[in-house]
This record gives sequence, structure tokens and C-alpha cells, in this order.
Amino acid sequence: MAARLKAGGFTDADMQIIVPPGGPKKGNLVARLKGSGAKKPLLLLAHLDVVEAKREDWERDPFKLIEETGYFYARGASDDKSMAAAFVANMIRMKREGFVPNRDIILVLTADEETIPSQFSGVEYLLKNHRNLVDAALALNEGGSGLIDKNGKYLYHGIQAGEKVFQTYRLEVTNPGGHSARPSRDNAIYHLADGLSRLGKFDFPFKLNEITRVYFERASDLESGQVAADMKAILRDPPDPQALARLGNVPPYNALFRTTCVATMLDAGHATNALPQRARGVVNCRILPGESVDEVQKTLVRVMADDKIKITPDGIAVLSPPPPLTAEIMKPVEAISAQMWPGIPVVPTMLVAATDGRFLNNVGIPTYGISGMFRDLDGGGIHGLNERIRAKSLYDGHEFLYRLVKALGS
Ligand SMILES: [Zn+2]
Repeated sequence: MAARLKAGGFTDADMQIIVPPGGPKKGNLVARLKGSGAKKPLLLLAHLDVVEAKREDWERDPFKLIEETGYFYARGASDDKSMAAAFVANMIRMKREGFVPNRDIILVLTADEETIPSQFSGVEYLLKNHRNLVDAALALNEGGSGLIDKNGKYLYHGIQAGEKVFQTYRLEVTNPGGHSARPSRDNAIYHLADGLSRLGKFDFPFKLNEITRVYFERASDLESGQVAADMKAILRDPPDPQALARLGNVPPYNALFRTTCVATMLDAGHATNALPQRARGVVNCRILPGESVDEVQKTLVRVMADDKIKITPDGIAVLSPPPPLTAEIMKPVEAISAQMWPGIPVVPTMLVAATDGRFLNNVGIPTYGISGMFRDLDGGGIHGLNERIRAKSLYDGHEFLYRLVKALGS
């Protein structure tokens, strides 16, 4: 990438390869297209690492880019080398045109996004050690894409604004134990199981934010029948309880409008004929951005309602306040989207999983998942087998990002 940028007119002073100590293969590339400085920089973020892929499981060599029947196949074809490639090509195109933006445009290509946690996370390392190199007013990142149904129909152009906060808790109950021939009701496994079963029946409160509100508004126009009616009914104040219950049974919708905490692991007892001295569990929470992590722990204590269950956070959550849907970002996105895909609505979405955007949002750099790349409804093999991207989608996204970055820098 650095060689291509150099061939495209960037000088050594314009870019740096930053390798963290101890990680010789975990380098990051930072390149800068100098602007007039009228505005604070725009950051373009993409990660270069990929999820592991096993050659024997794939139909094609996962580490060779193959174009076939209108698709590019390779590990990373979509997540996230597509954006990295588009950004590099656009940086070179703008340089060749002699474009002087009204702000610096900073390209940041990083290592170790897919490994959580990682001591070589490129974004974390750069923010901690080279903040001046990557400081920006806003950032574009992965996490947003358009959707195409199985008949090739374009559904909507999704842009991601904000993501849930990841926090795991460890639960533990201890007990003196004893011989299983003389049991008592005071049993470590029962304490934990009863607490978890109370949690399983509990729903965190319903809450919409600016992004999910607009999402349900626009999604209700794309849906039909009961689902469309229910989406409209939860937007009322107060929301319709029956509509809320029905949508709450659909996990992807439920995850958008409330914090969730779910039991993911259990480990208890030490012998088939002994009373358990210890019962342990893991609860993984995905907290709505803006909600207090401490409050979630207090809620867990209250809902499990048993002071024998000791609850400890596993690591410290990276808070990720959702970036505002300002006119500065929404106007050009909607205008360029209308030029390229007339009639296809732009739909803001909140990610219920996590991207590197959480680290940027956390330090006050509003970060939007915008690619202009339309993906197949089945996910296109991201993190799985035979990862692919439509060739047309890659080129369209490349052009969309070019126009968007120019608009944000003009
Ligand atoms: Zn990714």
C-alpha cells in the first residue's frame, strides 16, 4: 500500500509505517493528504487483518483474489480489504488531480481488528502513542453497507452510526459442600441456576436513540403487514406493549432497542458424589450506547436477587457514544446515494456487534460505518466460508467513497 501511495505521488514525509514493539508483523500505515487546514481532519479507517480461513474448507484458495461470475472471492474480499483498497485508490486519485481539501485527509490502515482483545490492536496503539497523527473531527469506517436481496434487488443503503458496548460478567457461588448423600437446599448450583433463570425471564427496558428511531421509521416503510405496523407502533409514546412484545421475540430487533445480557458459559461442581463447593457462570452483556455500565451490573444484582451470587466485571468496557447524525455527514451521503442509486433509501443502523469505531467514538472522534458497497442478504461469507463481494459493489463503493470524501473535504 505504501509503495502504491509513493508511486502515486505521496512522499515519505506524507506517510509512516508504525510497527508496535514486539509485533514485527503488526504494522500500521498512516498517510496524509495535506489540506488547507480550514477544518479539522477527516480520518479514513480500514483494518488489514482478517479472520482465519482454512484452505481445505474453502472451494477456492482463500488467500488468492479470484474473480468469478461477477464476484471477487477471497478472505477479506469484503471484510475489510475492500474498503482499504478503495481508500488507497482514492487517495492516489485525489493526489493526481492536485485536489487540495479544506482539511487533511488521513488514511489509517491497521492491524489486529479481528482479535479481541489484542495487545497489537492498531487503532488502540495509534490513539495511545500517536494521537497527533490520527486526530480528526470525524472518521469513516467499516460497519455499514447496502443490502441486495436474492433476486438482485437493492433494498436500502445502510450506514452505521454507533454500536453497543461489550461487557462480560463472571458469576460465582461458593459453598462448604459435603457428601451428596446428605444434601441441603443450600446448594451452589441451585443458587446460580435460579439466579440465571430469573435473568433469562428479564427484559432490560425498551429504549430508542436517535439512530434506532430513524432506523425503525425507515424500515417500517420497507416492511409490510404486522411487522410494519408493529415498527410504527413502537415509535409512539408510550410504545404499544403488544407490538413491543412481538418485535421483542425477533432477536435482531430486540437487540436494537434494549440492552441484552445472556448466560454464555457454566462450570460447577468437582465430583459426581459431592455437593458443589463452587458454581461459576459467564454473562455477556451488549449495552445500549449511552447507558451506564455500572447500572447494568446493579440491575444484574437486583434481578438475580441472591447475595450468594458474586458478580464481577471481566475487563473494563470501552464506552462508545453514538456519533450524531449531523447534516455535515447526512446531506452528502444522501445526495451522493441518490445520484448513484436513485430511489433506494439511506437507512441509519446501530451495530449490535463491535468494530474499531468504538475506540474512536470513545475518545471523541465520531465514527460512521459507510462503504457504499451493497452486500448480499446472506452476509457474503464474512468471517465464514467463501467470502465474496460483488465486483460491481466494490467499484460502486470505490466511486461512492471518492465522491463522499471529496464532499467532506470541500
Ligand atoms: Zn471487519
